[in-house]
Amino acid sequence: MHQFHYRKGILHCEEVNLQALAEEHGTPLYVYSAQTFRDNYHRLTQALEGLDHQIAYAVKANSNLSVLGLLAELGSGFDIVSGGELFRVIKAGGDPKLCSFAGVGKTAEEISYALEHEIHCFNIESVAELELINKVAEGIGATAPIAVRINPNVDARTHEYISTGKAENKFGIDYAAASEVYQHAANLPHIQIKGVQMHIGSQLTSVTPFVEAVERVIPLVAELKSVHDIEFFSIGGGIGIIYDAALASGQQDWWDQHDEPPLSPVVYANELAPRLQSLGLKILLEPGRYISGNAGVLLTTCLYEKKGHAKTFKIVDAGMNDLIRPALYQGHHEIIPLREDDASTRVTADVVGPICESGDFFCQDRELADFKANDIIALMSAGAYSFTMASNYNSRPLPAEILIEGTQVTVARQRQSWDDLIAPEL
Ligand SMILES: *Cc1c(COP(=O)(O)O)cnc(C)c1O
Repeated sequence: MHQFHYRKGILHCEEVNLQALAEEHGTPLYVYSAQTFRDNYHRLTQALEGLDHQIAYAVKANSNLSVLGLLAELGSGFDIVSGGELFRVIKAGGDPKLCSFAGVGKTAEEISYALEHEIHCFNIESVAELELINKVAEGIGATAPIAVRINPNVDARTHEYISTGKAENKFGIDYAAASEVYQHAANLPHIQIKGVQMHIGSQLTSVTPFVEAVERVIPLVAELKSVHDIEFFSIGGGIGIIYDAALASGQQDWWDQHDEPPLSPVVYANELAPRLQSLGLKILLEPGRYISGNAGVLLTTCLYEKKGHAKTFKIVDAGMNDLIRPALYQGHHEIIPLREDDASTRVTADVVGPICESGDFFCQDRELADFKANDIIALMSAGAYSFTMASNYNSRPLPAEILIEGTQVTVARQRQSWDDLIAPEL
């Protein structure tokens, strides 16, 4: 469920008319709904009520300071994958003591920064990393809290670029080697064993792989609890969202009650909580996309229409530098016009950006509203892995980001200027 809806024929975010907003701030423009972030967060914690748990929002999904700030206010922790992300969390008022540091390539500098801020935990991805963390901790007279990321070797059944829990992925430590790595960690003087971690992939639309992974890892977790007295089990993120806007704005409750629902927090919690409860450990969750994905849209203006021999192209002012998901892993975004009436005439077209790459498209051969030059459209569900993956490719300034709260409009990030593009260059 989200807060983007037509009102009197114009797309609104909460109480704000997006046509007027786009005219005032220009396009391409990211727009976020504060209420949607909060609703998503609450739906998940409420579904897990009764299970001792903590949400650690995955910062890489959407790391705008305003977004991190509003999640910090809700009591969220943070899953970080770089020193820069920890810096953002701290600047946004988040608590470093609720931060878990993941990722296969942490540098000594990042480790040291995280130790100074006394983060909750380092999620260990290799023995070499474990040893470096021990050494860095020794150097500054600290003890590093750690969890080992277990690779359970299950198929997340998602796009191969966002699957992370199979033996051939670069992530985590093989299940079979885990006990030995924990024993090694126990012998390192500046390491303190705190928990177990796993994360099998992103945009999972079925609960089955989560169940498989949890069932596979639970015996190990129980063993580690008795041997090393661990405190928590982090089951990672990965809850998928519905990228089809019609479904996403519809009755999630309806889906929850039907036989084959898409993955909802209720289904997720009903399947996982009973299995996890008996461990008697704190359960950590690291949702990114689930919290932020449908809380944002990217507004873009149609510049030209071009009818080729084989295809119709609608050329818009946003490109793959602003939103790379379709080009990177065939990510889908619903495309709707800001004026509802524009949807009454349909056409089959490609919506493409201005970038000099054939991969620069938002959809191909899709039936959609027959919008025209100067019309503004919304690329839906662009709240996760969207702005955070934006670049300056083709020397295009990064778009602005707006956070809406009821009728209140906050420029959460200013649009870059051409001067900003060259400012760091000597
Ligand atoms: C990316 C990531 C997440 C978040 O994944 P989502 O699919 O956005 O929920 C959680 N944990 C780790 C370790 C990650 O790398």
